Parts: sequence; structure tokens; C-alpha cells
Amino acid sequence: MNQKDITRTKSIDLAPDEFKKIGYLLVDKIADFFNDISNFPVTKAEDQSTIRGHLKSDAPLAEEGTDPQKLMNKVSELLIQHSLFNGHPRFWGYITSSAAPLGILGDLLSSAINANVGAWALSPMASEIEAQTIRWIGSFIGFPSRGGLIVSGGNVANYIGFLAASRAKTGLKIRERGIKNETKDLILYCSQETHTWVQKAADLFGLGTDNIRWIETDRWQKINLKLLKESIEKDVATGFRPFLVIGNAGSVSTGVVDPLDDIADICDHHDLWFHIDGAYGGFAAAIPELMPTFEGLSRADSIAIDPHKWLYAPLEAGCILVKDPSRLTDTFSYHPPYYNFEQSVMNYVDYGIQNSRGFKALKVWLTFQQIGSRDYRQLIREDIMLAKATHRLLSESNRIQTFTNNLSITTFRYLPPDLNNNVEIPAIIDYLNDLNRRILEKIEKSGKFYVSNAMIHQNFVLRMCIVNFRTKIEDIIDFISFLLQTGDETDSEMRSDHLK
Ligand SMILES: *Cc1c(COP(=O)(O)O)cnc(C)c1O
Repeated sequence: MNQKDITRTKSIDLAPDEFKKIGYLLVDKIADFFNDISNFPVTKAEDQSTIRGHLKSDAPLAEEGTDPQKLMNKVSELLIQHSLFNGHPRFWGYITSSAAPLGILGDLLSSAINANVGAWALSPMASEIEAQTIRWIGSFIGFPSRGGLIVSGGNVANYIGFLAASRAKTGLKIRERGIKNETKDLILYCSQETHTWVQKAADLFGLGTDNIRWIETDRWQKINLKLLKESIEKDVATGFRPFLVIGNAGSVSTGVVDPLDDIADICDHHDLWFHIDGAYGGFAAAIPELMPTFEGLSRADSIAIDPHKWLYAPLEAGCILVKDPSRLTDTFSYHPPYYNFEQSVMNYVDYGIQNSRGFKALKVWLTFQQIGSRDYRQLIREDIMLAKATHRLLSESNRIQTFTNNLSITTFRYLPPDLNNNVEIPAIIDYLNDLNRRILEKIEKSGKFYVSNAMIHQNFVLRMCIVNFRTKIEDIIDFISFLLQTGDETDSEMRSDHLK
């Protein structure tokens, strides 16, 4: 082989001027998009074949490369014209927040440095920024944590808490011998309102979903403490092995915060791990006037909390905080010969599931400082105040029935006044469910607003969750008139067919 045969002929690099030109144009486009976002529909509600048509999704990957500027123009148009915008001031569906613009630029910088935050040596500054971010999250919500990890979101954060719990409470032999050989019938407890991550975790990590005790809730959708205690005692008496209780700090459906302090007492009494799912609501614990609601939060062993929800970080950013970080290294660390990393610094590969890790902490670190803790508390507080105002305004209407209002989630349904006294009759329940389903479809199709739904007892209700720094009271007022009008129309369309 001679020298010439190994000369590089291809490069993926962009020349500096080209990089700048594409980048500047893209930033201009994004800035214009944000400036104009309230004039876009929240969603065009296009179906899959329409979207595939625009993308030309059947096209094969070409042999020949394409001009990068052309590509960027094309894909930014595709995305701006055919996306659902959770950054729109009138988006209140599920729990996805509007994204902080500085965080978006943070992601760009993070990709440019391309730090691998698996090992300190590979990411010295990034690892320390992540550690500082985790510390700030803990102190912001009053959770005395000495460590944790930034992850992709609430599910993974909760999985890590779950795994740390199973190791901490059964001894570490299960790492070699496996759960089924080392300990039978590990049991965990959570309320019926708990997010579906708990099923994925029990399934994936070898317990099986039968080992979840779904504890009934009281009339406020909080875990029933008496039933929780009875269930633990019964399991202990029959030879099962309770190890974990999960408390909700902002349940996914209605935003309820379980009685955390009481759960902590029960966990102390039975020597169980106390994990809090605060993926949505955890950051509201930073607000002084909500302290009674979150009392006991600081007593948990671990808490999952999502910066991509109530810190408005662009997707993805979740976080797990643990009181004692050695529980994470006990759970996750191995030292294979090919990783020769200094052990006196934190190598985040030892704290979680991932190996190579991106630098998701940067966007959180940036907006934390851009806003500061005082104004962050105020942003969250204003979301909650808007949700309260929504609840109050809705209650004033004679055609709306309100259900719950916790943190920034409000649930309600359209209820024609003449059916008001018959809401327990099965045929009426069915009708109201169908009616509100149809109203929800029409709201989405309109592109003007976006809300989601919840089931409360047997009732299909509409659900508005405000984690959106762009929402103003005017948006809410417009929504309510649209809802009433759509409700009136839909009821008169459906009534003759359904209720004879
Ligand atoms: C959103 C949410 C989750 C899941 O979090 P992801 O970030 O979507 O993975 C879990 N629990 C609760 C209470 C949530 O609100």
C-alpha cells in the first residue's frame, strides 16, 4: 500500500462561511417562527397519509448528497408547516411545556462541544455543570440530595429510583443472582393515579406487573393511607417482601399531591424505600405558599422530576435526585478493564443506565440562571394562578361542570343544563362521555386550542394543563367561549340521535 491510497477524499465538514450562513439563516427562521407563533394553528390535525405525502416518505436514501442549505430550508418548512406546537400560547394538552429559547441555543452548543458526559475525563466542564445543575434542582425544591443524574425524562428518572430501591432494600446480591433467585415476590405500592411508568418498570425489571399493589384513592384522588397500611401488613403476613412505596407529587391526570409526610411515616415504620414521582409537579414545591401541600417531600429517598416539564427545558431533560448517591453507584457501577477512569471524580456512567451520555444539563443550567430562582417560582405560580382562574371562570357557566383543580391542571366537561339532575343515569353518562369526546375532537380539529382528557370515575372529562409561559388570561377567556359554543352546537347535533 502506498501513501496515496490512504489519502482522504471525502469530508462531512462544512467550510466556516457555509456553516455560518446556514446557521444564521436557521436562527433567523426560528426567531421569526417564535415571533409569529400565536398566528399559527396549534395543530393542523393532518392525518398520517397527508404528512407522509408532504415528506415523500417512500423516497429511498439517494446515492448522491444534497446541498445542505437546500436541505435545511426544506426540513425547516416541513416542520414549521406540519407540527403541533406545544410552544403555542393556547396549547394545554398532556404535560409538555413550551420550550425556553435560551435552552434551545444551549442544545446547539451542547451538540457542538459534543461532550460525552459518561465519564468526567471525557467531559470535565460538562460533568461539573451537570453536577451543579442537579444540586440547584435539589435546593430549588428543598430536597436534601447529594447527587443524582440528568436523564431523558420522567420515565427513566423513575426507573432509576425504582432500581436503586430494589438494590437498597434487598441487598446487592440480586445484581449477581437476579431477582428471582435472590428474593421472591418483591412488592411495590402506589395509588391508582400513578403514571404507567410503574407498569413498564415492574415488567422490565423482572418483578411482573402483578407485584404492583394499586392502592385505591380517596375522593380527592389521593392515596388512601388506611388501605396502603393494610395492604403492606397483609403482604408481610403472607410472606411477600414489600420494598417500595411511590408517592405522587402532581399526578399525571389531575395533578394531585399524595400525603407525602404520612407516606414517609409508613415507609419508616416498615423500612421501605420512599420514592416520589414529581415528574410534573415536583418543581411547584419551590413555591413557599404550597409548602403544606408538599410537606414530607424532603423525607423521600428519591424523587423523579422533569426539567422538560415545569422548568420549560426543551425536550429532553428529566432528573433523578437521591438522598444518598452511593445508592446509585451501588446499583449501576461496574469497572470493566477498557474504562480506565479516575474514581475520585464522578463518572456518570456509574450513576445510571446509559453509557455514552449527551449534555442535557446545559439547557437547564442556562435557563436557571437566565431567570433566577425568584422569577422561576413566579413563572410556575402564574401557571397555577391561570389554572385557578380557568376553574373559577368555568364554574360560573351554567353549561360546564368542573371536576378538579390541582396545581396547574383543571378538569371539566360540557354539561347541558337540562341533564344536570340526571348525571347518575347510565344512558346519560354514556351520552355525556360521547358528547365530550366529540367536543374534544372538534377543539383539536379547529387548530385554535389544544386540551386533552382524563377519566374521573366513569366520566370522560376535558383536561387543561398549563405549563406554558406564553399563556395569558385572554387565551383562557377565548377558550371558554369557544368551548361553550362548540358544546352547544355539538349537543344539538347529537341529541336527537342519542337520547330519544
Ligand atoms: C410526564 C410524567 C411521567 C413521564 O415522564 P416523561 O418525561 O414523559 O418520561 C411520569 N410521571 C408523571 C407524574 C408525569 O407527569
